[in-house]
Amino acid sequence: MESRDVVVVGGGVSGLSFAWHAARSGRKALVLEGSERLGGCLDSRRTPAGYWYELGAHTCYNSYAGLLEIIEGTGLRDRILPRGEARKRFAFLRGGAIDMLGPISVLMRFDKAELLRNVFRGMRASKEGATTCGWYSGVVGKRNYSRILAPFLSAVPSQSVDSFPAAGPGSLFKKRPRRKDVVKSFTLDGGLSSVIAAAAGSPGVETLTGAIVREVRTVGGGYEVRLADGRSFQAPVVSVAVPPSMASAMLRADFPDLSSELARVGMAATESVGVVVRREKVKLPEMAFLVPADDLFWSAVTRDPVPDPDWRAFAFHFKTGKTDDERRARIAQILQVEQGDFEEVTRRMTLLPSPVLGHDRTIAEIDRMLEGTRLALTGNYFEGLAIEDCVQRSIGQWARVSAA
Ligand SMILES: Cc1cc2nc3c(=O)[nH]c(=O)nc-3n(C[C@H](O)[C@H](O)[C@H](O)COP(=O)(O)OP(=O)(O)OC[C@H]3O[C@@H](n4cnc5c(N)ncnc54)[C@H](O)[C@@H]3O)c2cc1C
Repeated sequence: MESRDVVVVGGGVSGLSFAWHAARSGRKALVLEGSERLGGCLDSRRTPAGYWYELGAHTCYNSYAGLLEIIEGTGLRDRILPRGEARKRFAFLRGGAIDMLGPISVLMRFDKAELLRNVFRGMRASKEGATTCGWYSGVVGKRNYSRILAPFLSAVPSQSVDSFPAAGPGSLFKKRPRRKDVVKSFTLDGGLSSVIAAAAGSPGVETLTGAIVREVRTVGGGYEVRLADGRSFQAPVVSVAVPPSMASAMLRADFPDLSSELARVGMAATESVGVVVRREKVKLPEMAFLVPADDLFWSAVTRDPVPDPDWRAFAFHFKTGKTDDERRARIAQILQVEQGDFEEVTRRMTLLPSPVLGHDRTIAEIDRMLEGTRLALTGNYFEGLAIEDCVQRSIGQWARVSAA
């Protein structure tokens, strides 16, 4: 059996940021990734013509300080691309018609009488113990919420957000540490996966793909990570950076209470389809994203904020249970192109957390159980969904286990 200073399970941004910090502190960190590709939800694709687009996460909002530390530390600072004019435009698809909007004009789509009846009382209500549906309906009115606000909020995690907590862990919005010297909203030349490749190539970080982890067990004063193919690795520090349902399964044998808490975090699946089309074929105006009132998909995100003279790309995030034919047909209809115009079609399946009221207690309980151990848990179900939330959680977990 091989051993390392640190073994990280899961090669998404949570796992790689943990490994990067461990390596920067002089440890040898091994990242075990189950699939053949590092990055998880950071999934930039490149066509044979060299055009790149995002099938997963697409934007760093609010100049993510923790991620920037890695971007700068891996020499990627000059690859930062500010997002262009299209970032300010988005579309609402309702009754077959596309309504082009901006941050202000979306407010004009609310029923004003309903908004005025609710907004002053609603804004004074506490978010504590309220669901997203409960609190935001109180502010804009129930009809305004279900007709307009809910589709936009649900587009963020590609699932209904009605039962998400309105505040605290698991809620959609939070303040993040911000760097004033860097543009607020950006991506990277080549796509966000560039930071994954750079972190994976850093001194002290070793990665193994196709390494499906089945179990994390305690041995002696440390841990043993067992793979599905029979290999295993030992380390005094292990970080589990996979979705909570999978972390729960890996930890069941030796950490049954922790495993039960992790199993409380619900998950929702999304099936994403990316298409690349020649620019001249698409009549749709340039926009950052499109949200339907009610459709087969939650949202479609474009690469228009970083325009290309020849190509446009769209990532549609679909509800589950649709066939590939249905998905492709709907994309062609919306883009008003023939399916034969798709130069490239790519797909991915994603699992994202579905937090509900009480998520804060679940997280507090998980953290209490981790106290005093050198087992770290990181991911997008702790501080929030955003890339930066994952990096901040990993920074905090590395600080805790390295001091333990
Ligand atoms: C479509 C989409 C768009 C998004 N857009 C944005 C955005 O614009 N900005 C933003 O800030 N955030 C965005 N997010 C959120 C953000 O990208 C994710 O929350 C974050 O990347 C999650 O990272 P992670 O490492 O915690 O999890 P993941 O990315 O899910 O990584 C977990 C990894 O663990 C691996 N794994 C699972 N099981 C095993 C196993 N048994 N053994 C070994 N490996 C295993 C998986 O293969 C995966 O690579 C978006 C998310 C999605 C899905």
